[in-house]
Amino acid sequence: MQPTGEAHLGNYLGALHRWVELQERFDCLWCIVDDHAITAGGDPRDLPKKVVDLAVSFLAVGLDPEKSILFVQSDVSEHTELAWLFNAVTPMGDLERMTQYKDKAQRFESVPVGILNYPVLQAADILLYRADAVPVGEDQRQHLELTREIARKWNAGYGDFFPEPEAIIGDEGRILGLDGNAKMSKSLGNTVDIMAEPDEVWARVRTAVTDPQRLRKSDPGRPELCNVHSLHRHFSSPDVVEDVAHQCRGALRGCVECKHILSDSIVTTFAPMRERAAELRAQPERIRDILDDGATRARVLARETMAVVRQRMGLDWRKGWKR
Ligand code: AMP
Repeated sequence: MQPTGEAHLGNYLGALHRWVELQERFDCLWCIVDDHAITAGGDPRDLPKKVVDLAVSFLAVGLDPEKSILFVQSDVSEHTELAWLFNAVTPMGDLERMTQYKDKAQRFESVPVGILNYPVLQAADILLYRADAVPVGEDQRQHLELTREIARKWNAGYGDFFPEPEAIIGDEGRILGLDGNAKMSKSLGNTVDIMAEPDEVWARVRTAVTDPQRLRKSDPGRPELCNVHSLHRHFSSPDVVEDVAHQCRGALRGCVECKHILSDSIVTTFAPMRERAAELRAQPERIRDILDDGATRARVLARETMAVVRQRMGLDWRKGWKR
């Protein structure tokens, strides 16, 4: 996950919530991808704090360093090294076809190569650990298909070594932002942070767009078309979900009250995690130790892979005079 600060509801429902379950069933690595983040620009002075904030979110939601490996991408330089080597087998045309590249490229007058190469680094993030499976959102399916293609091409050129990782696609789909229109995303400013204090949660939820046809409290609403209602389904208990739908359809309760109930449900859902986050923030040395330890464990695996990759690609010149 990119370090864009503390996680939001979309990250939680689309990723973190599932990851916590996956760590019970698989040997997992969870990586904060700061090398990827630099392609988005931004002030470098902000990046270290964003990494720590995301690490706090990871730990607070229940990713457990005893069960999986939690680390920061730039601590394991093998990621960027493998990405460079994968450049040798990645067709330019494949990268140019990526939907995310085409979307992002439009925002630049002169497109940085990093925006084009982003999926190659992503392939390296995955294949460095010879991962069998990757939990990704629907939007990342194309990049994962490219990762499989890179694995196939590399294996064809240098001998079978990398598995073709499967996508583990969640059933939550795309969580809409408070505008009720676009995907919830930091860059669109339509998020609610999971670790936000109760008054901040309310300040955000109160701006949520509801059924546009319901202009007055006396107009009957259509919960099935209202994004506030779909958020209720994720965070409120089943009887509350039913009750707010009933009250909305019958114009018995207004949108502001409905949002208050949603805000309370979000606050209650994340209360234990907010507490854990506060404890963690008070112990920065603990977070540092966890990430240091994670990087050490990740490096062991990364180095095993790179020893084979370097040897197969002829990057072991010391053998040169033995021939
Ligand atoms: P990002 O913050 O875009 O790097 O996303 C990190 C993870 O959160 C990825 O697995 C995304 O698929 C997931 N994610 C981010 N935003 C959303 C959203 N609005 N709905 C569902 N999943 C999301």
